[in-house]
Amino acid sequence: MSIRPGNPVRTRYAPSPTGPQHIGGIRSALFGWLFARHHGGQFILRIEDTDQKRSVPGSLERILESFAWLGMDIDEGPRIGGEYGPYIQSERLELYQTWAKWLVEKGQAYKCFATSEELAEMRASGGGYDRRYRDLSTAQADNLEAQGKPYVIRFKMPRSGQTTGVDLIRGDVVFDNAQLQDAVLLKSDGFPTYHLAHIVDDYHMKISHVTRAVEWLPSYPLHIRIWEALGWDKPQFAHLPVLLNPNGKGKLSKRKQQFAADGKSVPVLAHEFIDAGYLPEAVMNFLTNIGWNFGDNREVFSTAAAIERFKLEAVNPANSAYPIAKLDWLNSQYIQDSTVDDLARRLKPVLEAAGYAVDDDRLRRVVPLLQVRLKTLNEVVPMAGFFFADWEAFEAPPTEILIQRKMDSAGTAAVLSGSLPVLEDLDEFSHEAQYSAMAAYAKATGYKNGQVFGSLRAAVTGQRVSPPTFETMEILGRAESIRRIELALQALRQPAS
Ligand code: GLU
Repeated sequence: MSIRPGNPVRTRYAPSPTGPQHIGGIRSALFGWLFARHHGGQFILRIEDTDQKRSVPGSLERILESFAWLGMDIDEGPRIGGEYGPYIQSERLELYQTWAKWLVEKGQAYKCFATSEELAEMRASGGGYDRRYRDLSTAQADNLEAQGKPYVIRFKMPRSGQTTGVDLIRGDVVFDNAQLQDAVLLKSDGFPTYHLAHIVDDYHMKISHVTRAVEWLPSYPLHIRIWEALGWDKPQFAHLPVLLNPNGKGKLSKRKQQFAADGKSVPVLAHEFIDAGYLPEAVMNFLTNIGWNFGDNREVFSTAAAIERFKLEAVNPANSAYPIAKLDWLNSQYIQDSTVDDLARRLKPVLEAAGYAVDDDRLRRVVPLLQVRLKTLNEVVPMAGFFFADWEAFEAPPTEILIQRKMDSAGTAAVLSGSLPVLEDLDEFSHEAQYSAMAAYAKATGYKNGQVFGSLRAAVTGQRVSPPTFETMEILGRAESIRRIELALQALRQPAS
């Protein structure tokens, strides 16, 4: 298979530092990472900042933060170090220049003096670069250079024949050389293009498998020819399918948009997953399951299990629509499977960010009520923030919240006041005891359970949606619950203003 004996597996993620991390890039990185981890190899981060105009300061920090959050550890890279650094391309310019010159000396590349006007003319006449400087003699080229004419270095791509490459996901891929241009390797400012830089780096960083987005597949024959011209053993290649918009049309957009049927905005940048209250384990599971599957219809699996199973050959070559509808479901699975302490630890900062002062013991009592109800961590705030608010400041909600469906103000007041002695008389204020007593009360009064329980819920929480009424009242305690029911009764008795 795809591992050469004696060569450790080394994969890399090579983003351009153009701002926030897009989830499509992270998904590509993830497959390279899973592959490296499966084989006990190394995963390298390299920053491809040769297009300086597009570089955005702070991008590296955001990349490192996203990886740390997801738990994707990096063996070598900027800030991390490693034997093959520096890992930022703008710090390696001399190396690219050396190899570009070497290719010119070997007759595999040439200096091209085309001016921007010449290039514009070629474009206007419908063709690409017409190779007009390809066959200059060395003396002619030296002469132009001596006159101070700026030039780029272009690769001499064979003009006919075919180039065949192996792709670990697609098998053999065959290209007609005539389709390819003499690509620029080194720009006139001495900066390399991607075509040269990534090859020089993949070679010097001993990358064994290039796992990159399928957008690069059309350039693969060019890269094969450059590797061969340099006389280096090629790594193996896997061109990864990309994420499409949720409707299956077009590559997943960089901007946050409202794709989902319910109009909810869809996270596409790494930090948006954090901000929206998703768990990193769920996001890892979600991303791993796009275009790759566990093999036995299982949809919930740990990263460790995915590492054990992962094979590039099993990646589906087709691009996948972004299955965003799955994410909430997956996240809720992870929330349900968390331990109480773990979930409490994750919910605490969310509540604190919403301005609540969180008592740990109370939070640990509330968490079991939330586990089956939360889809994201952020939902804790509207659902259960009231537990952590200042209880003394609690006010009865407006009557439209207090009064349940098919009930009126007088009926609600009757139900609530009738509940008071029942709750006061309970030996024990457990939710089980409350439930049986209140169910009996509902039966005796002819109301439905939902009407009675809903009235109590609204009275004690101030909301229509909350954890179950009696569990909630158990945590609030008898005195506080009764106080709140009395406040609701006062509110109902006040004449509507
Ligand atoms: N800098 C390239 C990009 O961001 C890297 C492609 C690769 O992985 O080789 O698309």
